[in-house]
Amino acid sequence: MNTPNNPTEIAREAFRQLAVRRILPTPDNYRMLYAEISGLASGGEAFPERELKQLAHELGQAAPGQPRLERDLNEAVARQDWEGVRRTLAGGFGALAEIQQLAWSRLIGELFRQWENKSADITPGKKREALDRALAISASNPRVLFTRLENLQRAWARGEAANDILLTDANLPESGAASVSPASAPESASSAPVGDRMAVLPELRELFAYTLENCIAPLLAEQPRFFNEAQALAQAVRQADSLAQLATTQATLKQFAFRLALSIEDQAELRASLLKLLRLVIENIGELLQDDQWLAGQIEIVRAIVEKPLSQRALDDAEQRMKEVIFKQGQLKLSLQEAKDALKHMLSGFVDHLASFAGATSDYHDAMEQCAKQVSAANDINELELVLAEVMQKTRAMQLNAQRSRDDLRATQEKAAAAERRVKALEQELARTSHLIRHDQLTGALNRRGLDEVLNKEIARAKRHELPICLSLLDIDDFKKLNDSHGHAAGDEALIHLAAVIRESLRPQDTAARFGGEEFVIIFPETDLKEAVSAMTRLQRNLTRRIFLHENQRVLITFSAGIAQLQTGESQSSVIRRADAAMYESKKAGKNQVMVAAA
Ligand code: GH3
Ligand code: MG
Ligand code: MG
Repeated sequence: MNTPNNPTEIAREAFRQLAVRRILPTPDNYRMLYAEISGLASGGEAFPERELKQLAHELGQAAPGQPRLERDLNEAVARQDWEGVRRTLAGGFGALAEIQQLAWSRLIGELFRQWENKSADITPGKKREALDRALAISASNPRVLFTRLENLQRAWARGEAANDILLTDANLPESGAASVSPASAPESASSAPVGDRMAVLPELRELFAYTLENCIAPLLAEQPRFFNEAQALAQAVRQADSLAQLATTQATLKQFAFRLALSIEDQAELRASLLKLLRLVIENIGELLQDDQWLAGQIEIVRAIVEKPLSQRALDDAEQRMKEVIFKQGQLKLSLQEAKDALKHMLSGFVDHLASFAGATSDYHDAMEQCAKQVSAANDINELELVLAEVMQKTRAMQLNAQRSRDDLRATQEKAAAAERRVKALEQELARTSHLIRHDQLTGALNRRGLDEVLNKEIARAKRHELPICLSLLDIDDFKKLNDSHGHAAGDEALIHLAAVIRESLRPQDTAARFGGEEFVIIFPETDLKEAVSAMTRLQRNLTRRIFLHENQRVLITFSAGIAQLQTGESQSSVIRRADAAMYESKKAGKNQVMVAAA
């Protein structure tokens, strides 16, 4: 059919189409057919179908809690029904506002209810921690915050602490006004995964900002410039709401990472140079210290540490040992000084005494000379008698003085010898202190005090890093028999032998201590029960291989052991007690075996 090209023809054709299509001859229908035939838009009053559909779609995205809004709107648009459009929009917005209000008040009410709900598994502390986390990572995004709080409340209702809410809430079903509800609108079903992915984006962004703010910034606390930059970047990541802003933030982030990498390299170099310097100093001091046993002991500790790769454990250990040595040596040096002072005091007293004795001797000589003169000048026997009496008296006094001086000399000699012996003993003790304070003198293993310290530190470390730690207590089998048949000295040798085999069998991070007579404790950090059992079985095997020889006689040493793994909240004494009980079970079960403690 030719397209009518003048208004009269178009009007005629419009009437004809009304009849052909059996459409009611209303003014609206006529206007519609006229517009269709002429190919023109139906003028100012035409229905904006395309724009309204777009609007319906956008509203559907923006109001995910109202799945019917988009569908009803589309239907009204398809009917070109202005009244329907108005009604749908008014009803939808009203319901939306109501639902949002209701959802928040319901959520807050629920949260309070669950907060007050007492539960053995979820302590108030755990609740507070989970709530703090949810608030910290979602505070800037109300929608994310709503979802997290709702998930938290649901988890508490299920009796879960929900401290891992960050990881789980992406998988939970949608909730109330804050969730996406893709399945309810048929045309949006295919876009559901995209919707899910989009919902994850703000969370990912928040996670990234959280990482910058709470993981990276604290690591840089000692470099305020980097610390502030990391904080500012976290802010920028949160606030960026356009791709352009994100691109700027990305550029700043790259610069930040580059400068941070340079700074880390500088610090590593600095550390390496310092270590090199320390090694040099230690080498030089070592050569100068041939005679000074005290300092040599301390330097040896530092040398042992810098030769191995640095670890916090080794440094803590060294610091502790240095402190002890310095303290004990301080005390010993004080006693030594006192002993030396006493010796000096005695000697100077004796010299004074000798001087006065010498003075007295020369006075005596003078008096004798005087007497001799008086004798030669004497005219009668009476005068002589007087001079002789004086000579006798002076000589007796002189004799007494000499005798006293001899006694004093002997006493001082004895005192000096005793003081000298004490000085020697103190010096020897001083030389030994650096090793003996925490170690057993016979075997060189840690003593009880050393064990307490190491165990304390290792238990604290295990708790801090949430790592397993095991402890084993072993007791030599029939040790009394060994003593009785080979002598006490052989028993001592057997203890030294066992300590050496233990040392050879353990990993560097494990520690052995002599717990009492023929009992040893071994600490296994970062080790679970299974690994600890295999370590103790390996020790048993090594002990049968490395047989103990006494006067060329082979003496078999075996032990019974118990192993316990530290439980949450368990004390040092309790874990030792459990290991001891398991050791006792090994003895009862026939000795020469390893048993695991009951929980
Ligand atoms: P069990 O298999 O039941 O453990 O028997 P046992 O003989 O090993 O145990 P008991 O407790 O009866 O004897 C332990 C012996 O260890 C007694 C004690 O004289 C000896 N002992 C303890 N400390 C030392 C030490 O330092 N040197 C020596 N040579 N013997 C020691
Ligand atoms: Mg015993
Ligand atoms: Mg024994």
